[in-house]
Amino acid sequence: MALANCRECGKLFVKISSDICPECQKKEEEDFNRVKDYLKENPDAKIAEIMERTGVTESRINKFIRAGRLSIKPTCESCGRAIDSGRLCPECRLKLLWEVRNIIGVDKGKEHEDTFLLEYLRGKRTGK
Ligand SMILES: [Zn+2]
Ligand SMILES: [Zn+2]
Repeated sequence: MALANCRECGKLFVKISSDICPECQKKEEEDFNRVKDYLKENPDAKIAEIMERTGVTESRINKFIRAGRLSIKPTCESCGRAIDSGRLCPECRLKLLWEVRNIIGVDKGKEHEDTFLLEYLRGKRTGK
């Protein structure tokens, strides 16, 4: 039997299969049921909406999604379309970056970085 610190509350507990303690697991289960119930009534709900209505944190909702327990995808916070991960879709991320660039000004001689960024955001490059 191995002892481990709960990833949620930090308490020492006997680790069986989960990396969180039984109490946090129970709470997580309650959160899951709340989200699931909410989705039953509102199948098209966005994550932001679910968070607001259920009080469940985004990271936890995303954890359920990653575990395949919820059949929803994370959505772009800006345009609301379904995305695979993160907070913004590639287009909105790019738009945001351009806006930031317009505010801080484009550094001459760094145009090649923009090309890289563009390709990266379009998913032509993988990795980080
Ligand atoms: Zn815990
Ligand atoms: Zn978007």
